[in-house]
Amino acid sequence: MREQIRAIARALDTTGEPRLEESTKRWLSTYGDGSEEFTVLVRLPVDPGPMDAVAEAFAEAGWQVERYEDRGMPRVRASSDGYLADARALDSGLLIKGTAPGVWVARWTRPERAVTPSTVRPGYEICRECDGWGTCEACEGLGFLNGRQCPMCGIGTVCADCGGSGQLPVS
Ligand SMILES: [Zn+2]
Ligand SMILES: [Zn+2]
Repeated sequence: MREQIRAIARALDTTGEPRLEESTKRWLSTYGDGSEEFTVLVRLPVDPGPMDAVAEAFAEAGWQVERYEDRGMPRVRASSDGYLADARALDSGLLIKGTAPGVWVARWTRPERAVTPSTVRPGYEICRECDGWGTCEACEGLGFLNGRQCPMCGIGTVCADCGGSGQLPVS
């Protein structure tokens, strides 16, 4: 997508290389899914005129193009294979923002068990509440359950009985 937007920017710009700003955002959803979203901003020091050239450039590159107005300003929205691009005119030129779809990168997994019967300290026993895991039994340490704050730990994420150590002194 970066290359496509760069190519479109180059086609529109006759004054030199466009300025690019790229960023990647990562987050973990409350369901434990890790995602990544990629954004590229292109600033072009050209007068885009009435945005016709922008719409044409995206259409020629095979994107689906939609023209719309935002607060009286003409804008172009283009999409291709889940990628989105939004172009608008600024005082200083043209701004194209491209966004790649969030890609699934990881799934939350419960951290390793804090203690097992063979690693429990002398004079201690495995916590009955979490069975030695140390993490909250309900949410497994994510802090959320079915997308909501965990009712057991309230995003404390550790076992309330042992505080995360997985073991308690023999009483
Ligand atoms: Zn515990
Ligand atoms: Zn919890």
